[in-house]
Amino acid sequence: MSYDVIVVGLGGMGSAAAHRLAARGQRVLGIEQFHAAHDLGSSHGNSRITRLAYSEHPSYVPLMRRSYELWREVERESGRRLLTMTGAVMLGDPGSSVVSGALLSARQWGLPHDVLEPAEVRRRFPTLNPADDELAVVEDSAGFVRPEQAVLAHSDLASRAGAQLRYGERVIDWTTTPQHAQVSTDQGTYLADRLVICPGAWAPEQLADLRIPLVVERQVMHWFQPRGGVDRFRPEHHPVYLWEADPDHIVYGFPAQDGEDCVKVAFYRRPGVTTPDTIDRSVHPAEVEEITAYLADRIPGLAEHHLRSKTCMYTLTPDHHFVIGAHPRHPRVVVACGFSGHGFKFVPLVGEVLADLVIDGATAHDIALFDPTRTFATP
Ligand SMILES: Cc1cc2nc3c(=O)[nH]c(=O)nc-3n(C[C@H](O)[C@H](O)[C@H](O)COP(=O)(O)OP(=O)(O)OC[C@H]3O[C@@H](n4cnc5c(N)ncnc54)[C@H](O)[C@@H]3O)c2cc1C
Repeated sequence: MSYDVIVVGLGGMGSAAAHRLAARGQRVLGIEQFHAAHDLGSSHGNSRITRLAYSEHPSYVPLMRRSYELWREVERESGRRLLTMTGAVMLGDPGSSVVSGALLSARQWGLPHDVLEPAEVRRRFPTLNPADDELAVVEDSAGFVRPEQAVLAHSDLASRAGAQLRYGERVIDWTTTPQHAQVSTDQGTYLADRLVICPGAWAPEQLADLRIPLVVERQVMHWFQPRGGVDRFRPEHHPVYLWEADPDHIVYGFPAQDGEDCVKVAFYRRPGVTTPDTIDRSVHPAEVEEITAYLADRIPGLAEHHLRSKTCMYTLTPDHHFVIGAHPRHPRVVVACGFSGHGFKFVPLVGEVLADLVIDGATAHDIALFDPTRTFATP
């Protein structure tokens, strides 16, 4: 049997693409090497920050507005809870990229926000204890999404719309001819009119001929039971936060989730170049000690009792912007990779864009920033 589209990789982006393509009447085959919502790629760990005051580039803000609409739509259609709005607090000294970037973006886009002095931060958010020379930018249009639930929601909706999703099957190779695209796996060979390739951290292997110098990094998430329990950290009164003490130490964290008795915190980008095949998936005591020490004065009592930690992978482009578009050497192929540690909040939007590119050959969304053929500059 031949398909209209084969989607390679059913993680965050691929599951959303399979859903949108099937919903628009395409005969879709999805192929995933592991099971749905597995924890060996980039889309696991219960929570991802979502925010609108995006300092990275102005292009992200309209895309994020649409993504928020789609998150709610996918929630309604799937019956799963995906997005919780809590607001976000961005902390650091006034010149830090986290604070100055959030402020710039909020002002540029007229987004509701507050700037708080340390005493006011301590009063409004009693768990947070900034230094006297730090500031906080508070943004309301922020919160967190649930990555595993999102992958499951998109996969369910794709199946419901007729997509055939195959798990535990590894793509070995793909190729295109003037007539069709062909995907070879460890279990067979499939033909389709078009391919969508969303391989996450496997992009350096699956999309080597894009010739983009992607770097895969090992990152670690930690869960702690705070002193005195999690009541102070419930999402009804606790925001997500990003805290930049120095450019090498940005920590971010979440409220306690869905009845859990623990909270999650992590460093954004600790050094650790890796590959999906060689990554060290065990987390070492020194890594737990580093974040415990970092939090001791900033969020006293949070890192009281370490419960567990988990690794995850970022796939970074040189400029830290995504790669979404037609493959320059294979017109039948659309790619989505290089989400550089900040892609999850855009998952439903990326699904919509990929379906547009496959079916219409173009999208109304402004994705010029993500052109696979751009010249890469480092940020
Ligand atoms: C610790 C951590 C924290 C993050 N925090 C945030 C955040 O707060 N906010 C935010 O917006 N983003 C965040 N991100 C980034 C975000 O999670 C990623 O950008 C996003 O999950 C990437 O989705 P993906 O579909 O590209 O990758 P994945 O979800 O990993 O999907 C790729 C899929 O392709 C499959 N695959 C690969 N090769 C093959 C093959 N040969 N055959 C079959 N299947 C294959 C893989 O098994 C995998 O399932 C974070 C990431 C990490 C790791």
